[in-house]
This record gives sequence, C-alpha cells and structure tokens, in this order.
Amino acid sequence: MKKITKTILIICLIMFCCSDVVYAISQTTLENSHKIDSVTGWGFSTQKHHMGTKNTTYSFSSQGVYAIYNTYVTQGCALWGNNLSAVYSSNSSTAMGYIYTIYDSTNNILASATTSSTRTDGLTTGWSIKINKANFDSLSTSSLKNKTMAHEMGHVYGLKDLTLSTFSSQIMYGYVNSSMNVTTNDINGMKVVTEVHTHSGYYPKSYQKRDSSTHLVRCTICKSYIIENHTSLTNCTKCGYHN
Ligand SMILES: [Zn+2]
Ligand SMILES: [Zn+2]
Ligand SMILES: [Zn+2]
Repeated sequence: MKKITKTILIICLIMFCCSDVVYAISQTTLENSHKIDSVTGWGFSTQKHHMGTKNTTYSFSSQGVYAIYNTYVTQGCALWGNNLSAVYSSNSSTAMGYIYTIYDSTNNILASATTSSTRTDGLTTGWSIKINKANFDSLSTSSLKNKTMAHEMGHVYGLKDLTLSTFSSQIMYGYVNSSMNVTTNDINGMKVVTEVHTHSGYYPKSYQKRDSSTHLVRCTICKSYIIENHTSLTNCTKCGYHN
C-alpha cells in the first residue's frame, strides 16, 4: 500500500455549489455590516450560506459509512460544546446534511464541505461533507479525525478556513495539526453564523481610528467591525481623531 508522504494535509477546500440562490439576504447582512480582519480570528464562509440556527440533522451515504465515521462526527461536534447541535438521522430523505466518502490519493485533502439553500433569505437548507478516505483514514490519531470533522462542521455552519499561521491553534485553521482546537475566536464566529449573536440593536462596541474620514466600530464580543464616518472631521467624539 502506498504511504502518504505529504506532511501538510489540507482539511478542506470550500466547494462552490451550483444550486446557489440569487443572493442571500441574511448573508449579505452578515458580509456587509460586519467585517472580519486579522484580529477577529474567524471568518464567514465564501459560500453564500450560513446556518442561522444551532440545529441541523445529518445522515450517511450507507450503514457502512455511518459505522466507521459517525463517532468522529459526533465527537467533532462535541468539541463545539453547546454552540451547535447536529443530530444523526437514519432517514436521508429528511436529514439536512449528507456525509459520504470518496477515495482520491492524487491530492492532500482530508475532507470538504458544501452548503446550499433554497430559501429566499439564503439560510442553509442542505449541506454535505465529503470525506477523502485516502487521507482521512491515515490520520494518526482519532483526535485528529475528530478535529477534522469539527472543522468541517464549522464550514457547514458558515465559517471560513483560516490561513494565517497566527491562527494555527484554532479549529478553523486550514491545515490539520494536533494543537488545533475550538477556541473563543471559533466560538465567536459560530455564534454569529448561528445568529445566537447578532448586531441588530444594542451591542457593546469600541472605536478605532482608521483614516482621516472614518473609524472602525468594533463589536467587543465577536470582534467584527463596521466602518463609520467620524462624528466631526476636526474632532471625532467617538474615536478621538483630530487634525
Ligand atoms: Zn476548511
Ligand atoms: Zn459581534
Ligand atoms: Zn472617529
């Protein structure tokens, strides 16, 4: 049997889904009203969907796949604590998510996730996780397998891969490693994509000078921000900018 010599295994490349609806209203709100940067430590998926709730269900392509992989899915979800609730269903026609396997030794991808929506507000109505047995089955520990599934569930709910090495200990980092885990930053992002945390109405914020005409209004809970004009171009009462 061929040995895998690639040292860095990519957890996932987000797959674009051809069943995208025109535009997701709620996702537009997320993207346009609150932005992410290098300090947030989480990001929105490049797919136009997010879950908008903690609850989803999933099934497997076969009993055989269920028997091997459900433990990793369950334990991966458990790493997110009560921030998400994904429940196995034996009925694939009513479950929202579908988990299946392929065997492809020509790349170093462990698994990937896809979401779709048939709703006008763009919230996720369907998703799938594809596990690449060629790489996933060769992971050295069950902990790495659990973490890989926790990462894929992050995509399923609407979170993005992190590529900055600063974030290599977070579950949404794109390259599997033993130090990665669900951190406060990951949970902040999960709370936004499940809409447990939103920016409608009051939220605690801080102000940060940006340039001569604008400042950032940063949510002090999830650390995402919007850009706003100074209250005055000579002396801003919010961020303290003056010229
Ligand atoms: Zn990924
Ligand atoms: Zn926030
Ligand atoms: Zn200002």
